Amino acid sequence: MVKGVLQMKKILVLHTGGTISMSENEAGEVIQNEENPLLKLTHHFDFEIDLVVEDIFNLPSPHIAPQHMLQLKNRIQKAVNEEKIDGVVITHGTDTLEETAYFLDLTLPNNLPVVLTGAMRSSNEIGSDGLHNFQSAILTAASDNAKDKGVLIVMNDEVHTARYVTKTHTTNVATFRTPTFGPIGLISKNHVLFFQELIAQTTADVNELTEEVFLVKAYAGMSPLQFELLDHPKTKGVVIEALGAGNLPPQTLPAIQKLLDKNIPIVLVSRCFNGIAEDVYHYIGGGVELKEMGVIFCRGLNGQKARIKLLIGLSAGMHNQELAEFVNNATS
Ligand code: ASP
Repeated sequence: MVKGVLQMKKILVLHTGGTISMSENEAGEVIQNEENPLLKLTHHFDFEIDLVVEDIFNLPSPHIAPQHMLQLKNRIQKAVNEEKIDGVVITHGTDTLEETAYFLDLTLPNNLPVVLTGAMRSSNEIGSDGLHNFQSAILTAASDNAKDKGVLIVMNDEVHTARYVTKTHTTNVATFRTPTFGPIGLISKNHVLFFQELIAQTTADVNELTEEVFLVKAYAGMSPLQFELLDHPKTKGVVIEALGAGNLPPQTLPAIQKLLDKNIPIVLVSRCFNGIAEDVYHYIGGGVELKEMGVIFCRGLNGQKARIKLLIGLSAGMHNQELAEFVNNATS
């Protein structure tokens, strides 16, 4: 580096597939491409950022599993240790983007800017949002202000935390929202503005993943059969999206107790997309009773992210009180 000259930021770009890498065919169906169209479009960018680009996968995001997330984590860790990168951008299908983002948030150090983005319209559709989102994600990953904010999601000119963002619309470009807390920052033309800090969280290093952690949604008149079927030697953990502030229909309790007696951790979040689940109600099936039974309350996460957190806690070898504290306490 020449003295007095600022060194260009080096950003590792990992393409994983999703609509951002797809095209619409003549029948109006969105299909995969062999080569990612983004690779041919980066000449539109006029910033001085060194992009190291890799097509790590070419998958629709419903094909992404925790094993792929682990591969991404390992690739990023290698780049941090050996390649002197300043940040990471991951392009990803939007369907499971929040799960990959949260997996990385829990397993990588919080200080490195890691930014995920995607698109709601494929590369050749009118009003395609992919290139713009990609550019915004690169600018965010290269921003000094993006350090210490954990893993971020940049879509539609907004910056969200991996912890609380969720996909809220099947097709609209403004699909990614952060209920309760709001976005952490905005992209305004070609710069990134942050308006909130992130509370630090405990991360866990994992090398192998536990399988068979399930997610169940509660409903009026819920049958206990769902929990009875989960009473299986392979079941390692269960997350329940409970009703309201954190309650369940009373007839489900005996089957849940049986799982708890077998030392299968049961984690509870709310099926409401705003607010947090807590032990507020003291009636049969109310949060107070569930907590007394040993159900772990998980504050602020949605079901799919609580599942990722439980999976990581179990994969890191946590049990009982340690696992409960890891899952329950965002700031532990
Ligand atoms: N179904 C697509 C996927 O998740 C949606 C998208 O990328 O926006 O791969």
